[in-house]
Amino acid sequence: MSGRHEKGVNVQVLLRCRPFSDDELRNNAPQVVTCNEYQREVAVSQSIAGKQIDRVFTFDKVFGPTAHQKDLYEQAIIPIVNEVLEGFNCTIFAYGQTGTGKTYTMEGECKKSKSGPDGELPSHAGLIPRAVKQIFDTLEHQNAEYSVKVTFLELYNEEITDLLAPEEISRVVEDKQKKLLPLMEDGKGGVLVRGLEEEIVTSASEIFSLLERGSAKRRTAETLLNKQSSRSHSLFSITIHIKEATPEGEELIKCGKLNLVDLAGSENISRSGAREGRAREAGEINKSLLTLGRVITALVEHLGHIPYRDSKLTRLLRDSLGGRTKTCIIATVSPAVHCLEETLSTLDYAHRAK
Ligand code: ADP
Ligand code: MG
Repeated sequence: MSGRHEKGVNVQVLLRCRPFSDDELRNNAPQVVTCNEYQREVAVSQSIAGKQIDRVFTFDKVFGPTAHQKDLYEQAIIPIVNEVLEGFNCTIFAYGQTGTGKTYTMEGECKKSKSGPDGELPSHAGLIPRAVKQIFDTLEHQNAEYSVKVTFLELYNEEITDLLAPEEISRVVEDKQKKLLPLMEDGKGGVLVRGLEEEIVTSASEIFSLLERGSAKRRTAETLLNKQSSRSHSLFSITIHIKEATPEGEELIKCGKLNLVDLAGSENISRSGAREGRAREAGEINKSLLTLGRVITALVEHLGHIPYRDSKLTRLLRDSLGGRTKTCIIATVSPAVHCLEETLSTLDYAHRAK
């Protein structure tokens, strides 16, 4: 066990490298990333203009191109969801360059495969549906009253939109200003998003349709509002209340929350200087991604001041980062040479979080 676990800071950093895409295979793209799952190492090597780059990074866990959704879930996520069921708040982030598998890892792709035998999820299902299934499988077998609530929001340019709001998508454009939700202090040290839909759900399948509805809305709004999908963060939160009786006959309420965050593409950090018009946007995206990095560094290094207040994302997640919470960062990379620069910057960012 490494030092930070002994000190009680629970930040786990995983690395996942996706397989080559069909395009990359067709073009015989050279491979520059090699994963060693047993040593938990990722090696990057390439010679450019006679100069050899050789770097090795170690993470808490490494998942190579052949790792399945199920492997990642079973090896890394199950204990986190158990923690949520015990009444703690936990956050899982997907961080990486656009096109490296953040959404695949979080939501997965149900189209790519059929459902398995009864109750089994499709093999391409990502960790959100898997977590939902674990939560309901556990709750349904417990002899306790419970409630499960879900919120799903998007953070774009430091502005919050509700992905579950029932209004017609065409009105999103007209009412753009009105539909932006303000983030307020709740007076108890936390924050709340005023007007955010909180859906009460009673089964896993209800959550799956919410997730689908929210993702579809995200895609439509992107097209209508000319958003660049790679620039938005999405936050899917599941809050669980469990009412239990103690042996003494007293009532005990456990409340846990799981946050699943599909971050904006990390290339938005490195290419700040951004062109005109995009400058503010790039700056604002930098703000949430960079602040997240600083908050995690401050937590891992036990600094006195944690700069939660510096971005919307970290304000939103304040009650779920640090203290008795578990945080998991899944950094995603491509194996191919044309992504080399971004891969190195992702590995550096993720490694700093360790
Ligand atoms: P991002 O959300 O980071 O932009 P995506 O999740 O959309 O990236 O992934 C880009 C493409 O790569 C998608 O077509 C996805 O199916 C595929 N992909 C990503 N990771 C994997 C993986 N581990 N196994 C198989 N396909 C993957
Ligand atoms: Mg994505």
